[in-house]
Amino acid sequence: MKNLASETVAAQAGGAIDEETGAIVPPVHLATTFIRDPDNQYRKGYSYGRPDNATVRQVEAVLTKLEGGAASLVLASGMTAATTTFLALERPAHVVAPNVMYWGLRKWLQEDAPTLGIEATLVDAGDPAAIRAGVRPGKTRLVWIETPANPLWTVTDLAEAAGIAHQPGALLAVDSTVQTPVLTQPIALGADIVMHSGTKYLNGHSDAIAGALVFARRDAYFERATRLRGMLGGILGPFEAALLLRGMRTLHVRVRHQCVSAMRLAQHLVGHPRIEAVIYPGLETHPGHAVAARQMQGGFGGMLSVRVKGGEAAAIATAASVRLWKRATSLGGVESLLEHRASVEGPDSPCPPDLLRLSVGLESPDDLIGDLEQALASA
Ligand code: PLP
Repeated sequence: MKNLASETVAAQAGGAIDEETGAIVPPVHLATTFIRDPDNQYRKGYSYGRPDNATVRQVEAVLTKLEGGAASLVLASGMTAATTTFLALERPAHVVAPNVMYWGLRKWLQEDAPTLGIEATLVDAGDPAAIRAGVRPGKTRLVWIETPANPLWTVTDLAEAAGIAHQPGALLAVDSTVQTPVLTQPIALGADIVMHSGTKYLNGHSDAIAGALVFARRDAYFERATRLRGMLGGILGPFEAALLLRGMRTLHVRVRHQCVSAMRLAQHLVGHPRIEAVIYPGLETHPGHAVAARQMQGGFGGMLSVRVKGGEAAAIATAASVRLWKRATSLGGVESLLEHRASVEGPDSPCPPDLLRLSVGLESPDDLIGDLEQALASA
């Protein structure tokens, strides 16, 4: 059947039925090597497990449909996916990226990428004029956007960013981890590449590290990224691919619930006597609210940050006092996580020292609010 809704595709994991047994849950393909035909061909399309794997291909087929792309690559982690995006560029390469973004990738762009012929200019990606000013005509090969971006949930207008990138011939790549394909499909807005840390919402159960790239076209750039994955072995293992495929079946219900709960929490915490500021794109006070309302369909995501009155010590003391929230890094799982973000990002981070990052899970929002209230009161 054609034109099925995104949640239908996800719930049935693309509708794949195992031909041999009729199983509605596809088998995990563990083989690392495959029989050659007697005439020396590989007609079934598989030869070795480093460039390709059948379980991985099933995840890719579902993701390509969810994002409205032409092809996908599933990789060993979000960072493998993100760095592959840059490594597949022709060199020398100048790129533009946000100055507030997932800290691990920012660190790689600043410290490692230059040694590989990739120079990054970091800009305020909430301001289209700043993105435009960062682009060097004839030199910039890619504009990288994360939206909403860690940990201030900066929102970038993707259609506008696509125009800015394409005008001088650069690609637009979007880290869509936090908005998920449920809320936004960047390719429809002009993006050339969509990246996910599959570790987060796609898998959703905090039990697999994974990454993904979805491409708007099967072109030479896609071929270079595919080649890199095959050569470097950045492919996801089959067990993790099966976990990812299972997690994605419930993506839509999880994300919708998380959006509703996050909004409730944000609204509850605004004006709280122990809280300086609540940072959530769903609040009208957020600088990116108008763009988010246009660009994110059906919710503003499950991530928010709060700045605790009393500075860093008060924020760390609040985190230390939670009983139900889990004091841990990462995001997008069924269990709610909270962390003092500056402790993770280190001294060079633009993250305010009084900031706690909250990943809202599937627990009752009343229980989550109750635990935060007691933690704020006892800190
Ligand atoms: N992008 C975002 C927005 C993230 O939050 C993360 C992980 O924290 C990554 C990328 C990197 O993903 P991974 O940890 O799967 O390598």
